[in-house]
Amino acid sequence: MDTPIKYYSTNKQSPTVSFREATIKGQAPDKGLYFPDRIPQLREDVISNFRSLTREELAYLTIRPYVGGDIPDTDLYRICSETVAFDFPLVKVTDSISSLELFHGPTLAFKDVGARFMSRCLGYFSQENKQKVTVLVATSGDTGSAVAAGFLGVEGVDVVILYPSGKVSKVQEQQLTTLGQNITALEVQGTFDDCQAMVKQAFADTELTSRMFLTSANSINVARWLPQQFYYLYGVQQWQGEQPPVICVPSGNFGNVCAGLLAHVSGMPASHFVIACNDNDTFSDYLRTSTYTPRTAVPTISNAMDVGHPSNFVRILELFGHDHQRISQLIHSYTVSDTTTRETIASVYRDHHYLLDPHGAVAYCALDQYLGAHPQYRGFILETAHPVKFPDVVESVTGTHIEIPASIQGLMAQKKKATLIPPQYAALKDYLLSR
Ligand SMILES: *Cc1c(COP(=O)(O)O)cnc(C)c1O
Repeated sequence: MDTPIKYYSTNKQSPTVSFREATIKGQAPDKGLYFPDRIPQLREDVISNFRSLTREELAYLTIRPYVGGDIPDTDLYRICSETVAFDFPLVKVTDSISSLELFHGPTLAFKDVGARFMSRCLGYFSQENKQKVTVLVATSGDTGSAVAAGFLGVEGVDVVILYPSGKVSKVQEQQLTTLGQNITALEVQGTFDDCQAMVKQAFADTELTSRMFLTSANSINVARWLPQQFYYLYGVQQWQGEQPPVICVPSGNFGNVCAGLLAHVSGMPASHFVIACNDNDTFSDYLRTSTYTPRTAVPTISNAMDVGHPSNFVRILELFGHDHQRISQLIHSYTVSDTTTRETIASVYRDHHYLLDPHGAVAYCALDQYLGAHPQYRGFILETAHPVKFPDVVESVTGTHIEIPASIQGLMAQKKKATLIPPQYAALKDYLLSR
């Protein structure tokens, strides 16, 4: 067996660590992102048997080198099976565009995959440590629900979620507050920024961190980032084209697309990548000018992509050795306005009877433009959320009522359980220490 993969910090000022340590730490002490010190190639038997492997097998074989033996094979296999225990269908929308539906998990968005994998890894490491871990997260909606559902029932891990009272949607609030068991919701009488500031202060409070093992479920954690490769492989597994697909990813923090690029560098066939952005499109500037300038985020209807300073951008640079030419040969990017997003949802529904959510619509429009200029190719988008999560936009532009999936109907009937606290750190600290 090769030497295990280690993770170095993209800022290069911290020691390299194992998968275990990178997962527990989240971010490197020098505030860089952890990055694998080599990119494993998909094994030959994986490539030759690609289509006949099960979802579990493919996930396990892909992630195993990254874990570097920190989780025994049987446990890792179980973790992989539990992570991908729902469907990832590739649905044909037109002759040239298909949709890889990533919304069949418990919170109806692709973040379920990363959250489920990370939670189970942390659960495993905390049992090994015999110390209970408390995951503290501030959420404006979607991340918190994926994390809460992902960690539900995981032994050795408690999750405390802070959300701003009255500022999350009804569905999101139900997803955060009704699970019970090891998941606790704190309803903060303030804004999302207040929640985030309280969480940051908790991590910086050495008195608190000496008394409990606190960690975050941040999206830059390698255990959330790396498993996102799985569904790209499932998409390519189901692909019927003569040439490899063009893959189009609606992007905000760039974790998702960067996982796809990683799978491609490991040997997964793809003809090209298209990054689809809303008006927050710092990446387009980088492709055009080779300089990267973060901006302040502006609000849009594809709000999970409202990021002006994408954290994972640096991982793309790292993956391609900071070679702008290589990056711009493999990746195109398009900017899609809210108006065009709405028009796309309406026209795709009218002409092809396929209902897109705003994030998927941004991707659809970008892929359509790329294929218009490169008619020799076909491709698929990643449909990152179920349209029912954005009923206002989707119902108003299509004029149809969206059927609420059975899983959500049950959720809406559950009883909310949350502790109301003022937006001050002292209130959070008292709460954590009194548990
Ligand atoms: C988080 C999110 C995105 C953006 O993904 P990144 O990995 O941050 O680029 C896109 N669509 C939906 C629905 C999301 O929740």
